[in-house]
Amino acid sequence: MAKIKIGIVGYGNLGKGAIEAIKVSPDIELVAVFTRRDPQSLQIDGVKTLHIGDAPNYQNEIDVMILCGGSATDLPEQAPIFAEMFNTVDSFDTHAKIPEFFELVNRAAVSSKKTSIISVGWDPGLFSINRVLADAILPVGENYTFWGKGLSQGHSDAIRRVEGVKHGVQYTIPSEDAMDKVRSGLNPELSTAEKHSRVCYVVAEEGADLASIENEIKTMPNYFADYNTEVNFITEEELQRDHSKAPHGGFVIRGGNTGNGNKQIYEFSLKLDSNPEFTASVLVAYARAAYRLNKENQYGAKSVFDVAPSYISPRTAEELRKDYL
Ligand code: NDP
Repeated sequence: MAKIKIGIVGYGNLGKGAIEAIKVSPDIELVAVFTRRDPQSLQIDGVKTLHIGDAPNYQNEIDVMILCGGSATDLPEQAPIFAEMFNTVDSFDTHAKIPEFFELVNRAAVSSKKTSIISVGWDPGLFSINRVLADAILPVGENYTFWGKGLSQGHSDAIRRVEGVKHGVQYTIPSEDAMDKVRSGLNPELSTAEKHSRVCYVVAEEGADLASIENEIKTMPNYFADYNTEVNFITEEELQRDHSKAPHGGFVIRGGNTGNGNKQIYEFSLKLDSNPEFTASVLVAYARAAYRLNKENQYGAKSVFDVAPSYISPRTAEELRKDYL
């Protein structure tokens, strides 16, 4: 059977992860990586790299484009343009702006008779699906989402902007105490700060005032001030050795009640060594769905809620019924 032909737009962490995920997907092949930079500068083993401006010439050679740009500025610009030409999958994760992003992409995809699955990944993505499942099955109850232990890119960037900081990373840590309460079915009211704490590892510039760095981080509004924040100073070598991966994960938990006062706890969790590699693996699986939905003339933007699980699997419906039901 012919393989599904994929293009990757953007060669960052997700783009690299998508290459790895395609390597282990026997029904999928990579045509090229498209970048805004000089393609020659990327040098990816065995992979064709092209300038993003060449993408329109590949409309007959690529079944689905996986959009790996950042959510802040890349995807709002790139997704509608690519949805005019290709079936697409993206990982847009600015939760508050998802409805308007959906409309933007939908308009483009409907007019071009393409299929675009938006906001794919783990959150939004697999966590979203589990929030919906838990809520639908246990209407009397409460949903909780905990993230971590995980490296937060936004908070790490904020640390690095503090004067005297050379490098820094920040981990979001879920509160065990809060999770225990939720798991016991108490359905507690929890503030954001009660659910998570923040642990920072900082490499300071030589001669920097450590006390003032610590104070500035801990009192930073929006990022740290409302949290229990721990600041640890480490050496550059320790940062390289212990903090160069991008682990993440988390928990979706719903405590619910059914008929006779019985407590029901629904829990889904992920523990990831590499956030971008996992997210890219989800994107590649959903690229199958975009391809198949388009073959069925299901045009326009879709979210993960609209895609049946069999559409993302490389296995046949018969195999799935036999082995996974
Ligand atoms: P990166 O910052 O690594 O890459 C974003 C883009 O920046 C790339 O597509 C690339 O575009 C450009 N770029 C990357 N590296 C360089 C460089 N060294 N110099 C110049 N440009 C560079 O972002 P990530 O891949 O880590 O994440 C992308 C998005 O994925 C995030 O913004 C986040 O919103 C989303 N995400 C979603 C998740 C989910 O669960 N839904 C989970 C994790 C992330 P180009 O090649 O064109 O220059």
